[in-house]
This record gives sequence, structure tokens and C-alpha cells, in this order.
Amino acid sequence: MFFFPYIGGGHQIPMIDAARVFASHGASSTILATPSSAPHFQKSITRDQKSGLPITIHILSADIPDSDMSAGPFVDTSALLEPLRQFLLQRRPHCIVVDMFYRWASDVVYELGIPRIVFTGNGCFSRCVHDNLRDVTIEGLTSDSEPFLVPNLPDRIEMTMSQLPPFLRNPSQIPEMVRSMKKLEEQSFGTLINSFYDLEGAYADQLKNKWGNKAWIVGPVSHCNRTKEDKTERGKPPTVDEQMCLNWLNSKKPSSVLYVSFGSLARLPPKQLKEIAYGLEASDQSFIWVVGNIHCTPSEKKENGSVNWLPEGFEQRMKETGKGLVLRGWAPQLLILEHPAIKGFMTHCGWNSTLEGVSAGVPMITWPLTAEQFSNEKLITDVLKIGVQVGSREWWMWNAEWKELVGREKVEVAVRKLMVESVEAEEMRRRVKDIAGKARRAVQEGGTSYADAEALIQELQALTFANQG
Ligand code: UDP
Repeated sequence: MFFFPYIGGGHQIPMIDAARVFASHGASSTILATPSSAPHFQKSITRDQKSGLPITIHILSADIPDSDMSAGPFVDTSALLEPLRQFLLQRRPHCIVVDMFYRWASDVVYELGIPRIVFTGNGCFSRCVHDNLRDVTIEGLTSDSEPFLVPNLPDRIEMTMSQLPPFLRNPSQIPEMVRSMKKLEEQSFGTLINSFYDLEGAYADQLKNKWGNKAWIVGPVSHCNRTKEDKTERGKPPTVDEQMCLNWLNSKKPSSVLYVSFGSLARLPPKQLKEIAYGLEASDQSFIWVVGNIHCTPSEKKENGSVNWLPEGFEQRMKETGKGLVLRGWAPQLLILEHPAIKGFMTHCGWNSTLEGVSAGVPMITWPLTAEQFSNEKLITDVLKIGVQVGSREWWMWNAEWKELVGREKVEVAVRKLMVESVEAEEMRRRVKDIAGKARRAVQEGGTSYADAEALIQELQALTFANQG
């Protein structure tokens, strides 16, 4: 099996894990990488090789500008087309798993007659929400903030147009990029999904019915990271001081710290970061806050290039009281989430973060920003009932201007709701711990995700025999 992961964080990370999962099932797995993406995961693949797994990396020799962990979906990756074609001609795999952002890959793989499996990076619930909204036009709404019932779902889910990407608000204006991603999937052998049946079974059924069982649900793939090294270096080696971070967490009581992170892509503006800081401080709860990229205008930058976004004296106060740790850069998220001191997770509801929070048994404060994150929020808060909403209302194009700030009061209220003991918070904690157990079992022998991975391998073998015959 070939795996062709996208260059950016939230898509690259789970596909590398998926390749490792299939290698652990005995499938010979090759990851197609670029010269700058390969070093991000080289070490974990070397460790897998040493332990005998049939997994390798092949480098497609064309480099992509702007490729780092925060590469968004619009980066032009088409320079990879020719190296991909040449490699596929040389070594025809039994299948290639392609990220949907490689929308140009559709034709070349199709021409060569190689079974293509698409990886979208999303879960089943959000997929059902988006698909159903594409099929049905919602009429009679007087504003983008008026709630409507999402059609044809197993649960009663209300959303507003302001929470959806523009092409779902106006289906007549589907951009070319979305059309080509759909084409990639329509001509494919099927879809690989990073989720597990017990998390969203009714939605998994809806998808499998629609696709005639050509959807394999094999997650959470992050469970393949068993050692401390794998968890620390996942995505890329941390740029924050990981030992300092663990020492700080070790000094805290079990189940007492909120982890705050918005994933690999989001760039929050300084004004929003300031509101978060004030809200966290007012909540009086311990927190570890990983600040990734910052979206600032030139006037917000100081002469030395750094941005003055924290309230006056904030970090000093946090240091003195030991209440909070602010980290800048790339953090070992899996290690942090699994630390016994962590009690809650403020997340942008990226699908990987959602699954990782669930797998760690940690309830969430949901703060969706873009992509399918508003749907993920609904799954977390309305279906699974393992989180509270901060009150984010506007879908945001990740590289556009910030539309609406979430104020410090809302941040404080949500943090207290999740972190201060109450019957409601205790129930959420109990529920998410129960689901975490189901996640673990899903990927073990006898579990649903384990079985789906085996089923896909068997289908590919059967297809090969049929073609040879
Ligand atoms: N991540 C990490 N350290 C960071 C930021 C992110 O390890 O400092 C990982 C996180 O564990 C997750 C991925 O990056 O696996 C982010 O994916 P997600 O789908 O949550 O959000 P996206 O980055 O795609 O918005």
C-alpha cells in the first residue's frame, strides 16, 4: 500500500499513523513524502523498521514552497505530479491512499489503473452533515444566524448558516477545488476514515450504506504511538521544551489542568489571544496553553518582530502563582493530553484533536473556527455530550481577517463549567472516559477498527487475484 499524505499537520499526521497501522497488520506500506516533510516522521518510521514492520519512506524529489506543519489546503502541490507518475510507473502498488487535498492526483492514478483510496481527514458525523446539506437546499431562513434542522440525520442537530463554509450556504457556488476533491472520491475504490464505530455508529452506517461498504473506519490511528518517543515526536519534534512542560504538569494535582490548543493551522489574532488570556486568568483554573501561529497586521508587530499580545504582566503573574504555562510553538499534544494532570481540553475541534481528546478521556471546551469543525462541535456537545461550547458562531476562512471575537467572559464561563466540580461536569467526564475505553478496544484484535483494516487488506488481495486471473 502506498500512502500519499498531505504536507500539512492535521492531514499529514493521521496518514502517517494510518500507514503505520496498516504495516502493523502486515501490509507492506510505503509513505510518499517530500524532501522537507520526510524528516518530520523519519524517526518513528525508523523505529518501526527496527521492530520489524514492513514500512518505508519514498521521497518524491520536488519540493513544495511553504510546506511546513501549518500548510493550508491551498498550497500548490502540483510539482509532485511528475515524480508521483514516474514512481507509480516503476512500482505499481496494490493501492494508493491519497489525501483529498491532492485534488490533481485523480487523473494520473486513474489512468494507471491503480486502486485509489481517499483520505479526507474527517469523521463520519461531519461528513453526513455536509453531504446532507449538499443534497438538500434549506429554504425560508431569514438570516445566517437562524438555526435550522440538518436533514436526514439520526439525531436532531441544529446549525446556522454562519457555521458553514460558503459553498454549503450557497450550493450553486461550489468552488473548483471542492469539485475536484469530490471527483477524486467519486472515482475511487473507497474512503479511509480515522474514527471508530462506537464513537459515531449511526453515522458510520449512513456512510457505509451510501458508499456500498467502501468506507473503512480504522481509527483512532493515533493509538499506534505507543512509546514516549513516538508520542513526543509525532508530527514533528517539539519546538517547546518538552521536559519543562512535563515537569510543570508533574507538579500539578491529578485532574486539575486545562490544556488549550488550536491545532496546527489556525492563526488567532492578538486581540483574540488577549481575550483568552483574560478569560483563563479570571477562571482561576490551572492551564497549559500552546500558542501556535499568530495572525497579526504589520501595525500589531513591534519593531523587533514580536507581538505584544498578552495582557500586561500576565506571564509573570502566571509564573509566580504557578497557575499557567504559556508555550509557543509545536508541543507534544499526545503526551500532554494523556498526562494525569489534564482535566479538560479547550480545542478548535480539529478532527485529530477531537479524537485525541476522546482517546485521552478528557472532556472538551469547543471553539470551532473553520473547515468541518462546527460539525465536530455538535458531535462533541450535542451527540456525545462530552463538552461545553465557548460560543463561537462564525465560520472563518483560515487565511482571512478575523470576524468576531469571543469575549473573555465567555471564555471564563466555559472554563468554569468544565473545570469546576458539578454534576454536569462529572457526567461529561464519566461519559468521555467510557468512550476512551471503547476507542482502545476498537483498535485491538477483535475491535471494529482492527476488523476494518483487515477487511480492506483482504479486499485488495482479492482484487489483485481477480486482476491476475
Ligand atoms: N499538534 C501537535 N502539537 C501542536 C499542535 C498540533 O502535536 O503544537 C497535532 C495534534 O496532536 C493533531 C494535529 O496536530 O494531531 C492537529 O490536527 P487537527 O485535526 O486537530 O487540527 P488542524 O491542525 O488540522 O486544524
